[in-house]
Amino acid sequence: MSKQWIAMLAALLLLTSCSTKPEASPDPAKSEPPASSQPVSGGEKPKTADGASSANQPAPAPVKEGKESAPADGGNKQEQPAAKRYTMNPKTYDIVPIDPNGTPKKVVLLTFDDGPKDLEMNKALLDTLQKHKAKAIFFLNGYRVKQKPELVKLIASSGQTIGNHSWDHVDLKKEPKEKVDQQIGDVQKAIKELTGKAPVFFRPPFGSGSDDVRAKAKEEGLLFMTWSNGSKDWEMTVKKNSPEQVISNVLNQLHPGSNILMHELPWTVEALDKLLTQLEEKGYGFVDPEEIEVTA
Ligand SMILES: [Zn+2]
Repeated sequence: MSKQWIAMLAALLLLTSCSTKPEASPDPAKSEPPASSQPVSGGEKPKTADGASSANQPAPAPVKEGKESAPADGGNKQEQPAAKRYTMNPKTYDIVPIDPNGTPKKVVLLTFDDGPKDLEMNKALLDTLQKHKAKAIFFLNGYRVKQKPELVKLIASSGQTIGNHSWDHVDLKKEPKEKVDQQIGDVQKAIKELTGKAPVFFRPPFGSGSDDVRAKAKEEGLLFMTWSNGSKDWEMTVKKNSPEQVISNVLNQLHPGSNILMHELPWTVEALDKLLTQLEEKGYGFVDPEEIEVTA
């Protein structure tokens, strides 16, 4: 037998062995490998003996990262988008009915800025809102979102609306375009990652906007708003009468469509139940932010 013949035979053997090697084709529908068996992607895992052996395992079926998945407790959230019954006056920031004949105009929009700060405060606000069947926008800061992601999920799963209040609570009017884009864009991403939904409402810190700020808000599909009824709760400190002052400040400026600015502050938390009761007694309803038409 010639050497050539042996070489051919060897090559043939090699070919056969390759083609009959069982292919790794796990049925993803039947058996999704547990997360713990997933190899670390990107080769960032140190080369230990363990890492070397796992490199020989067949590639598992790709597992979705859940980017588009609903939030964990999305089951009890209303999936149907609410009908748009209100619009915002872009000059006064008041909330007005789209159809003045069919929709009550004696309403207020409740907003709470600068959170999420503290579980107890958020819980108390959410409970009081629920008690009054009221909805609100929580305008959150990115750096706080990063610190307390569980509170962001709590607010969203309570059926309340989350708004964008920039990442660092800086005066955006004084910032260059790149910084403005980042301050707004990063909050959109962070909240979408946590709740499955990017905000559609934007309020600049200090109510301070610019052409760049408005352009970025528009690009992100955000409705830019400041407020039309400031509770001035930010000027207060822990004093016995502070909750009363929050209430009287809001009532003194009360008008149909009031876009009420409040904050996650202890005296505001304390004032809320009484404030909402008094608003109800005056015949005011609470606008569900989801009913506000967003024309960025
Ligand atoms: Zn603020």
